Amino acid sequence: MKYELIIIGAGPAGLTAAIYASRARISTLVIEREAFGGSQIINTESVDNYPGLAGISGFDLAMKFREHAQSMGVEFVTDHVTAIGVEEDVKLVCCEKNTYEAGAVIIATGARHRRLGAPGEAEFAGKGVSYCATCDGAFFKDKDVAVIGGGNVALEDALYLTRMCRKVYLVHRRDALRGEKISQEQLMAKENAEILWNSVVSSIEGSERTEGMKLRNTVTGEESFVPVSAVFVAVGIIPNSESFIGTVPDEDGFILTDAECRTSIPGIFAAGDVRKTPLRQVITACADGALAANAAGVYLRSGK
Ligand code: NAP
Repeated sequence: MKYELIIIGAGPAGLTAAIYASRARISTLVIEREAFGGSQIINTESVDNYPGLAGISGFDLAMKFREHAQSMGVEFVTDHVTAIGVEEDVKLVCCEKNTYEAGAVIIATGARHRRLGAPGEAEFAGKGVSYCATCDGAFFKDKDVAVIGGGNVALEDALYLTRMCRKVYLVHRRDALRGEKISQEQLMAKENAEILWNSVVSSIEGSERTEGMKLRNTVTGEESFVPVSAVFVAVGIIPNSESFIGTVPDEDGFILTDAECRTSIPGIFAAGDVRKTPLRQVITACADGALAANAAGVYLRSGK
């Protein structure tokens, strides 16, 4: 086998795993779908919660991770993984262009946010349209903002934003929320929160940046315009795990691991947003990458 370890994905989790593996002198190949383009943070205007680098742009942080991994001699290839095969101790990573072999594999393919698909959403992404309240909320201190969705993430985002924003609208398409009752009660008790029931976003409006949203009431059909400086979309996330389902156990597409990022298949690990985890941030993805590389090293040294 040419490589001891194959890492699938070159976001913060995959690149951290590559740095750790390289320092452990494990021969490593990183397979990325697009050269320099795969990570979600590339499109983040500013990352304010990565310790020591407050305010760095997502693009610059991604490049720093990449340069660090490259300086360690990590090898990269651009290909799209379609499946992993397990033949005793050998893992076959099947891609569109080639098939690669390794003793261990770390899946670090991340996740993508479900989009609303409303006009203006793509245009104003990073200009008031955000998919991460924890990352971007502080930019809208004392402003009026909206959160779209009715699940736990939407409720937690809305609660988080009530602490810094002047007014928080929660826009939900039905007349009942999906998220936990306790969070619903907490949000309803907030003076600066308002739930807009039976409402869907028809469009996000603005000139340079987001200035408001057009809503349609699904019961009355009535259209309205609500001025807001930011729209936080929290309508679910989709793990990039389609190629691995059936090979490793998952829950709703999120790969199940133990605390050391081991799946139940020996020699296959998962790190970052693609795995079932309570927090999906750059820092937690990096931590996962370190844990997964460490666990892969232990596995490879065990001779299995
Ligand atoms: P989720 O539970 O699937 O909720 C997504 C919400 O977005 C739903 O309210 C859904 O409406 C709405 N929605 C979906 N597509 C939409 C669209 N096109 N337009 C408008 N609204 C749309 O997703 P999540 O909140 O991201 O949470 C993901 C998982 O993590 C869940 O299992 C959640 O329970 C879990 N989680 C748990 C905790 C916790 O336990 N504290 C915290 C965070 C997340 P409908 O309700 O009408 O379907």
